[in-house]
Amino acid sequence: MGNSLETENIVIIGSGPAGYTAAIYAARANLQPILITGFNSGGIPGGQLMTTTDVENFPGFPDGILGPDLMDLMKSQAVRWGTKLIESDVISIDTKLRPLTIKTEDETIKTNSLIISTGASANRLGIINEDEFWSKGISACAICDGATPQFRDAELAVVGGGDSACEEAVYLTKYGSKVHLLVRSERLRASATMIDRVKNNSKITIHWNTNVREAKGGNWLEKIETVNSKNELKDIEIKGLFYAIGHTPNTAFLGNQINLDERGYIKCNPGRPETSVEGIYAAGDVADSEWRQGVTAAGSGCMAALASERWLTENQLSKLIKRDNVEPEKLGNEINIEDEETNEKTFDINAEWQRGSYALRKLYHETKKPILVIFSSPTCGPCHVLKPQLKRVINEFNGKVVGIEIDIDKDQDIAKQAGINGTPTVQLFKDKLLKKQWKGVKQRSEFKEAIKDLI
Ligand code: NDP
Repeated sequence: MGNSLETENIVIIGSGPAGYTAAIYAARANLQPILITGFNSGGIPGGQLMTTTDVENFPGFPDGILGPDLMDLMKSQAVRWGTKLIESDVISIDTKLRPLTIKTEDETIKTNSLIISTGASANRLGIINEDEFWSKGISACAICDGATPQFRDAELAVVGGGDSACEEAVYLTKYGSKVHLLVRSERLRASATMIDRVKNNSKITIHWNTNVREAKGGNWLEKIETVNSKNELKDIEIKGLFYAIGHTPNTAFLGNQINLDERGYIKCNPGRPETSVEGIYAAGDVADSEWRQGVTAAGSGCMAALASERWLTENQLSKLIKRDNVEPEKLGNEINIEDEETNEKTFDINAEWQRGSYALRKLYHETKKPILVIFSSPTCGPCHVLKPQLKRVINEFNGKVVGIEIDIDKDQDIAKQAGINGTPTVQLFKDKLLKKQWKGVKQRSEFKEAIKDLI
């Protein structure tokens, strides 16, 4: 594989279950698909499953599987069969002329067919002082930020009444002393299993018919003002407020070139992947306001790839690309190997990447090289995305920089000292001084620039 085409057979936009499944099918049809993963707009690469913990309803995993692990597996499967990945956001598409044109931040791609699987992004509430307390108590991702030191043994609140809200409320009881679940109506719309878990958890209190109006506090969130259906106001003292209030489909970049419904979802033929434009297909949450499951997204990705393959064949547009290896090598245990915690015996002052507080303390005092530290937590999907990127950056500097991962769940004291209030956070040190800090997933170029300034 690896031939470049002037015009691609299939471009897939989006890297959730729909996008990767479409890629697996298109790649196995020898169409060498390009998959544009997305980066900042519309959530993180890997989609919504990157910010969930256990996925217990995806067939094939009787004991459940962590969302980020499931996405790592899908990605590896797509790549193994010859999918080419582009880590970027799509800025616009042009459907008026054939072939279709896709513009990313860095390049322009021509393609005969297109699969849109850009999913949906988490909504914000828009309460008073939301911006002021964003990342200082307010978060859209309990799974990413729950292990933050400020939330330990504190009262926390989750807004919403769906599966996400229930899952997050239960998850947060691991860290908080009490979790308030704020539901705007008098019913939960989550699945029965989730509702049972919430109701059977003595650390969760449900507040029915309750909306949040305002966030209050000093440097960190201290309380929220709520209002109920009788217009009664009440303050609840909490240190963390987590949103789980649904999603909006990521379709803004389409610029009215494809028919959407009144809520912005792509309109398809009922039960089918065809959009209003020939040769363009939609799959997953971007075209589904009803089912929105990992498994339905994967199924619709499969349909989109098969429909696209048929359309290319009927229109004599497909250019089949012979695979170098008829049987691509199996990945076996290569995926999901966690780095070992560095100890006295394994510490190496020149190692490019180490893990844990022992290595950090040693390097902090002993190395003259810049140190890039990623503060992560065990279930943080964005950390999964960022870690390999940082490793690539460090590798490109050929031993002039060292990298360390600190699990804030394990090394709480260090996280506290470093003032970490969410994961991933990356800090760059040189000569015992903090030179720069980043929160969330950033482009590799940002880290490179900062490191270059120090060597
Ligand atoms: P949902 O759309 O299912 O639920 C959103 C919730 O937020 C609803 O309870 C809604 O209230 C509430 N809400 C919306 N806007 C506001 C607001 N402005 N103020 C207060 N509350 C508000 O979204 P989810 O993210 O929970 O789930 C999306 C999909 O993902 C679902 O299909 C779900 O089944 C699936 N999922 C599955 C999981 C699993 O199986 N493990 C885990 C997480 C999600 P109202 O009910 O009044 O409209």
